Amino acid sequence: MLPFFDESHTKLKHELLNWIKTFPVSKEEEEKNEIESSKRYVKELGKAGFLKYSVPPLDVRSICICRETLASHSALLDFAFAMQGLGSGPISLFGSDEDKEKFLVPVSKGEKIAAFALSEIDAGSDPASLKCSAKKDGDTYILNGTKSWISNGGFADFYVTFAKTSEGLSAFIVEEGVELIEQVKIGSPHPVATIEFKRTKGKLLGSPGQGLKIALSTLDVFRSTVGAAALGLGKRAFKEASHYSKTRNIFGQNLSEFQITQAKIADMALELEASELLIYRAAWLKDRGQERITKEASMAKLYATEASQRVIDNAVQLFGGLGVMSGSVVERLYRDIRPLRIYEGTSEIQKLIIAKQVLNEDN
Ligand SMILES: Cc1cc2nc3c(=O)[nH]c(=O)nc-3n(C[C@H](O)[C@H](O)[C@H](O)COP(=O)(O)OP(=O)(O)OC[C@H]3O[C@@H](n4cnc5c(N)ncnc54)[C@H](O)[C@@H]3O)c2cc1C
Repeated sequence: MLPFFDESHTKLKHELLNWIKTFPVSKEEEEKNEIESSKRYVKELGKAGFLKYSVPPLDVRSICICRETLASHSALLDFAFAMQGLGSGPISLFGSDEDKEKFLVPVSKGEKIAAFALSEIDAGSDPASLKCSAKKDGDTYILNGTKSWISNGGFADFYVTFAKTSEGLSAFIVEEGVELIEQVKIGSPHPVATIEFKRTKGKLLGSPGQGLKIALSTLDVFRSTVGAAALGLGKRAFKEASHYSKTRNIFGQNLSEFQITQAKIADMALELEASELLIYRAAWLKDRGQERITKEASMAKLYATEASQRVIDNAVQLFGGLGVMSGSVVERLYRDIRPLRIYEGTSEIQKLIIAKQVLNEDN
């Protein structure tokens, strides 16, 4: 274990590994029915007690350990876990006591499914340009607009969403009146949809105009955990490929005995260990009380997702034809890793964030 951890983290890792052994997943079922599989995973994760890590005190190292371990077993299982935290994150950070009681308790038991609805078709990388609007109407707000790429969209029990008000961008909790426009199918199991608010009631979260701060503070907590999920996928690919290379006999010797193979294995191991250090450094800094970890979280997310893509690509290569065979473990991982380089800020956006941070450090 790395020096960033204490005993509770070692114990959590152990519990997760034991639980996973008793929790078989059917990849065929996940691909056929991603929504029902994901809903079942939320319930099971709640029953097993792991969803308590998706609500306060939000120990980021624990969230990362959960994501890394779950992702190495099933990307959809990780997704089901992760969205409970991201979707309810703004309430954890900015909600009233009443909101926390109403939403976070059922989220932590797997009884309510959460969604985080920020992106729009013309406002992905640039959330400040979103068009969804909200107008005050007595004690509540009325929302109008369309949100794209919303994980858990169409079946979440509540959405934390963001809309323009006269004070700027504001955050809202929406429970009812969300119209499903379209379920979008991507290359790996991951329920995502376009949704619409049409004169939909929303409850203000935080203060009017605080929306961008709420969105960015939430991403600050959860961004390094995307890196942890990537690490889990990459480690699984590494394990499969290194084992295969030691058993695949070719030209009269094992694949692992060729120096070109060893160079690949060394690159893969190095990139995974470097990712691990960046991820758990960011998480540890946050848990230690550093208010913002913008640079560290972006570095962890950027490096780990890009590195894991390379690791998985190397794993596919080591398997030869079997590596691209539909449904083989590494072929699935190749599809699973891809969206992680896009959601919660693309790799290009992470570079812009890092550059801005380090250029400011110079002054
Ligand atoms: C599987 C999946 C799940 C998602 N889940 C959610 C969710 O639950 N909630 C939510 O709100 N959103 C979600 N998203 C949306 C996601 O956050 C956006 O897709 C992402 O932020 C990119 O926005 P975009 O798709 O509009 O791409 P664009 O912003 O149009 O970007 C297109 C390309 O331009 C690049 N680019 C953008 N700006 C610059 C620049 N300044 N310089 C150079 N290059 C640039 C980008 O890096 C990218 O390569 C999800 C997306 C996916 C794929």
